[in-house]
Parts: sequence; structure tokens; C-alpha cells
Amino acid sequence: MSRNRVTVVISQAQGKNPLRRALEESLAATLLMEPGVDLSIVPHLYDLEEGHTGRLFLNSVSGDMIVLGWLFPRAGFWLLDRMGVKGLEGSSPMHPVAEDDGEEAGEADPQEKVPAIGQTGDIPDRTITLLDLRAKPGYEPYLEEVRRLIGESKARREAQVSVRPPVLVELGLPKPAPVIDLTTLASAPAARRWYPVIDYSRCTNCMQCLDFCLFGVYGVDGGERILVESQDNCKKGCPACSRVCPEQAIMFPEYKTPAIAGAPVGVVTGLKIDLSKLFGGGDPSVTAAAERDRELVKDGRDAVGLTVGMAPRRAPRAPTVPDELDGLVDALDKLEI
Ligand code: SF4
Ligand code: SF4
Repeated sequence: MSRNRVTVVISQAQGKNPLRRALEESLAATLLMEPGVDLSIVPHLYDLEEGHTGRLFLNSVSGDMIVLGWLFPRAGFWLLDRMGVKGLEGSSPMHPVAEDDGEEAGEADPQEKVPAIGQTGDIPDRTITLLDLRAKPGYEPYLEEVRRLIGESKARREAQVSVRPPVLVELGLPKPAPVIDLTTLASAPAARRWYPVIDYSRCTNCMQCLDFCLFGVYGVDGGERILVESQDNCKKGCPACSRVCPEQAIMFPEYKTPAIAGAPVGVVTGLKIDLSKLFGGGDPSVTAAAERDRELVKDGRDAVGLTVGMAPRRAPRAPTVPDELDGLVDALDKLEI
């Protein structure tokens, strides 16, 4: 693949919702004809197990990538990162990046703030931009945004080439990775999965999730950093540990509540929401313990309540998403509090 081309990936919705399929098909039909685009279609990113052809394809792409999918961009970016599909997170006006609200939200003294783990390993000089297909109706806004992002990508590459001595350009560019044409594999099945995704730009490695989960999902890597070690040990539909993470770093992309599914975290336009309610009412720890007990009992084990793996929770940061504001308020209304 030429470095001047951009890979656009449509990550399909789970299930067979005809409206979602129709949007994917309209986008695919248009993007196939779009100059500068290499188009591929894969199942939902969350469902791609190790060794799945869709995942192998994503790992083979070396240049800029735009992923159109049915999940919050933050969740999608960290899902890809954990698959080894690494790069710099691209931004889009469709999904404004939230401001850091640490001081405004009255959190702990910034001097005491523990730095987040961040991305690890070699981060290639390319951007990965995710667009949430739930953000706008119709395919046209996505097409327009893909075109804008391609223009940005092209300008960036041209600027890089123009500042390099010609000899370095000759010797420094990596050979293009072989491209697997996945358009014929669009319907390759991928069973639904359920597991936590960590946002390492927020995770401070406090290990609270490791202590809390009694199902062996979490572990640590060689650098003693937290990781989701045994994804398939997680209990389907249960988001308990996301409620006890003090940094809102644990996401379950398919959970109905935006704050848990990966909505941006921060304060925008001065509007703040009491997110403790979104996390389960007055005390999220109580909700989390009840959810965990339910799973323990289903497994024939004893409930432990609040006696194991609990630590005092700091005030949660307030996520707001202007486009999602109505959804957040709806979610609050639906909570049984
Ligand atoms: S509880 Fe949250 S911040 Fe702490 S290690 Fe787990 S993911 Fe990271
Ligand atoms: S949701 Fe429950 S089972 Fe899954 S990782 Fe969190 S605490 Fe463990």
C-alpha cells in the first residue's frame, strides 16, 4: 500500500440490525470509489479474537487508518492498541476531545496526581482515527469527514517528505506491508464477547481492579503494569469493576451507560453532571459489590459484599459529551436509584 493512501475500515455492528447494515453498505459502496482509500470490512472490533482474519488484517496496516464503527472512539482506540494496532490517536470534530477537568472538578491536588501509564511499546508515526457511526444520521457526514481526514493525512505526509534529506527518504521509508483484501471476508463470523478494556491514558496502575475482580480477569505484564490477562473469564453483562476504578479507565464498550461504554471523560462547556449517579447511585462501590456477588453466587461461591478488594473511591471525573448529552440524561432517568 502506498504511504499516500489511507486505510478505511468499517467495523460492523453486532447483530443484524437492518438500519445499521444499510448505513455500512452505503458507506462501503461510496468509499470503494473514493480516490486514495483502501477499504476493508471487519466484524465489530470488540469481537475480534486473537488469530481472527480481521485482526490479522488490522495488524498488517502500516499507514494512517480511519475506523468507522459502532462504539465510542476512546474504547475503539484502546481496543486496537491492546491488539497491537498502535499509532497516535487521531481527532475529529465529530468527537471533540474532552478537556482535562482535574482542578475544575475539585479532585485531588494536582501535585498528588499519579501519572497515567499511557501507551507502551513502539508507537509508529501514523494516526488512527475512530468515528462512531452512532454520532450522526446518514452516511454523508462520515464520507465528508473521511475526505477531510484523508486531506489531513496527505498534507502531513507531504510535509514530512519535504523536510527530510532525499537520501533518508530513500532509505528510511519502510516497505509497505502486504495488504490482505478483506472485502471478500466481510461476513466472516465473530461471536460476541464481553471483557473490560483499559484506557491507559487514564489508568494510574493503582491495582484496585486486580484486587476487586475475583474471577482472574486482570494480571500484570513484565513491567508490573495492569492488563486484562484473561478476557474470557469476565462475566457477560457485568460491568462491576468499571464502577470501582478511581480513574474511569475501565470501559465495557457494549454496556448501555455511556460513562461505562467509553464516552469521553471531562468537562465541556462548563456543564457538569453528577456521575456518581451514572455509576450506580449514591455509592458505586455498593452497586459493584452487588454485581460481583451475583456472579460469585452463580458460580456456586460465597458472596463477599464489601469485604474484599474495596478501597475508598475518589470523586469521579465528570464525563460530558455535547452530542451525547441527551443520552446521558436518559441514562440517568433509567437508573433505578
Ligand atoms: S482500577 Fe483503574 S486506574 Fe487502577 S489499575 Fe485498574 S484500570 Fe488502572
Ligand atoms: S466485570 Fe466482573 S468479572 Fe469482569 S473483570 Fe470486572 S469484576 Fe472481573
